[in-house]
Amino acid sequence: RTGFVAIVGRPNVGKSTLLNRLIGQKISIVSRKAQTTRHRVTGILTNDDAQFVFVDTPGFQTKHRNALNRSMNRTVSQVLADVDLVLFVIEAGRFGEDDRKVVEVLPQEGKVVLVINKVDRLADKSQLLPFIARVKDVYPFTEIVPLSAERGTNVEQLLKAVTPLL
Ligand code: GDP
Ligand code: MG
Repeated sequence: RTGFVAIVGRPNVGKSTLLNRLIGQKISIVSRKAQTTRHRVTGILTNDDAQFVFVDTPGFQTKHRNALNRSMNRTVSQVLADVDLVLFVIEAGRFGEDDRKVVEVLPQEGKVVLVINKVDRLADKSQLLPFIARVKDVYPFTEIVPLSAERGTNVEQLLKAVTPLL
């Protein structure tokens, strides 16, 4: 099983930390930066069950609605539509306008997993369920996985959840 996976989210939600955590885990890294005909590859994770090829997305602009930014956002949408799986990363307890803008570039169809990162920051774990209830309907997510990329909490569960989706 091989699948192309894109990680998206507004700046600072922990995308790079998550990618490093994913490809850093007892896994053979085939390549850190490579090129395929379709995509720029930022990392490859191979375990017993699957191979995840992580794909770069061009940064997208949310501040101004002008022609260039709209065109860049279209490019992001095209990349996202052309991968097997999208990991949409947000921060636990925070879902704002800039996160909403990312939702706008998610593919119309396809598998998008909502990754709620930085759960270690929640003072009280009981805050998680009401937060999930608030965000779960902004898009028809295939899965919702809360985790801490920094601590590694639940990262293995993310892989388990997405492997059947590849
Ligand atoms: P990116 O801009 O989405 O790639 O975000 P980064 O991976 O660069 O992370 C942004 C900041 O959030 C850094 O200071 C990270 O150390 C921090 N961070 C990332 N993941 C976690 C997490 O699970 N918990 C906490 N508390 N901080 C995190
Ligand atoms: Mg980053």
